[in-house]
Amino acid sequence: MKILKKDFPILNYSVNGNPLAYLDNASTSQKPQQVIEAISNFYAGNYANVHRGVYTLAEEATRMYEDVRVQVASLIGAQDPREIIFTHGTTDSINMVAASWALGHCKQGDEILVSELEHHANLLPWQRVAKQTGAQLKFIPVRADGTLDMSNLDQLINKKTKLVAITHVSNAVGTRVDIKTIIAHARAVGAKVLIDAAQSVPHQRINVAEIDCDFLVFSPHKMLGPTGVGVLYAHKRMHDEMQAYQLGGGMVYEATYQDATFLPVPQLLEAGTPPIAQVIGLGAAIEYLEDNVDFGALAEHEASLCGQLIEGLNQIPGITILGPQDELKISGHMVSFVVKNMHAHDVAAYLDTYGIAVRAGHHCAQPFARKLGYDASIRVSFYLYNSGDEVERCLEALNKISI
Ligand code: PMP
Repeated sequence: MKILKKDFPILNYSVNGNPLAYLDNASTSQKPQQVIEAISNFYAGNYANVHRGVYTLAEEATRMYEDVRVQVASLIGAQDPREIIFTHGTTDSINMVAASWALGHCKQGDEILVSELEHHANLLPWQRVAKQTGAQLKFIPVRADGTLDMSNLDQLINKKTKLVAITHVSNAVGTRVDIKTIIAHARAVGAKVLIDAAQSVPHQRINVAEIDCDFLVFSPHKMLGPTGVGVLYAHKRMHDEMQAYQLGGGMVYEATYQDATFLPVPQLLEAGTPPIAQVIGLGAAIEYLEDNVDFGALAEHEASLCGQLIEGLNQIPGITILGPQDELKISGHMVSFVVKNMHAHDVAAYLDTYGIAVRAGHHCAQPFARKLGYDASIRVSFYLYNSGDEVERCLEALNKISI
C-alpha cells in the first residue's frame, strides 16, 4: 500500500534530531493537510451557525453540515442520514445512549451485558445505569490471551438481557470481538446492542445494516478527523424510545414558559450549537479516506506491521506480548507488551528519545489490565502513514534496553 506520509505536515516533526515515528494511533491519529485546510477554509469562507439563520451564509453552512451527515451515513452503510447523530466523541455517544435510552428502559431484574475488556467509556456509564435503575451489570469473561470466552453466551445473554454493549476491537491489546455471534444471541432474546467501534471504523469498512446493531459509536479524531466531534449511529427503530439528553436550542419544536415539545432525532439529541467546523473536518477526513485508502490494503498493511513487530519483540529477552499474537498478525493494528523490571512509562520515555511516540499505561481499561496481571503496558499502534522502517527503529531501540 502507498504510504501516505507526505500529506501529514506533522510527520516532519523531529525529536532529538530523530524523525517522528508516530505509533500512538489507537489514541488519536494525525491529520492530513486536506483536513486542516477544510477546517480553516470553512472558518475563512463559510462559517455561520447552523439550523438557525435564514441568510445565505447560514444556509450554506447548514447545507455543508448536513452533507457530512449523508457522508457518514454512506461511510457506515446507514439507510437514513437521520440515523447519524453528531456528538463530541465516543465517550459522549455512549453516555448519550445511557442517558437518553438506557435510564428510561432498564429496571430491576434486567441485565446489561458488557465484556471484561471494555474501555472505561463503555463500562462506567453502564455501572451508573445499573446503580440508578437496579439492573445488573454482567460480563463476558476474558481469557489470559485477551480474547473473550464466549462458551457461556447462552446463559449470559438471556431473557433478562436488556442491552449488550460491546467493543468491536479492544483498544488495550487489539483483540477482535466476534460481534456477529454476540448480536445473533442478543437478537434471539430481544436485547438491544451497542457496538463501540472506536477502534474499528478507522481501520475497516463497517456496514451497520449488515452488523444489525441498534447503536454504533466512534470518534472521528482516530480516523484523520478533528477532535470535538463524535458519531452515534442509532437505528431508526430506536428513535421513538430515545429522550432528549440535553435540553436547549436547536432541538425544540415549540416552547412555552412551562413546557416544550421537541424535534425528532437527530435534532432531539443535538441541543446547542454543534461542533460545526469539526463536522466539516470530519467530512474532509472521510473524503480523504474514500479517495486514498483501500480498507482491505490498509488492514493488510497494518497487520504486516504487527507481524514484523511481534516477530522482533519475541526475539528480545524480557519482553512479553499481551493479546492474541496470531490474530494480530492477520488482522491487528496494535501490539501491546510489557518489559520485565521496567515500568511501561519508562519504556515509552526511553523510546521518545529516539523520536518514537508510543502509549504507555492501562489504556483506559484498568480492570482489564489488572485481569491480565499488569498495571501498565506499552502499546504500539499503526495507521496508514506508518512503515516497516519505523517498526525497525522501534525494535532497534528496544534491543538496546539491558534487562
Ligand atoms: N472506546 C474505545 C475502544 C476507544 O479506543 C476509545 C478511545 N481510546 C474510546 C472508547 C473513547 O473515545 P473518546 O476518547 O474519543 O471519547
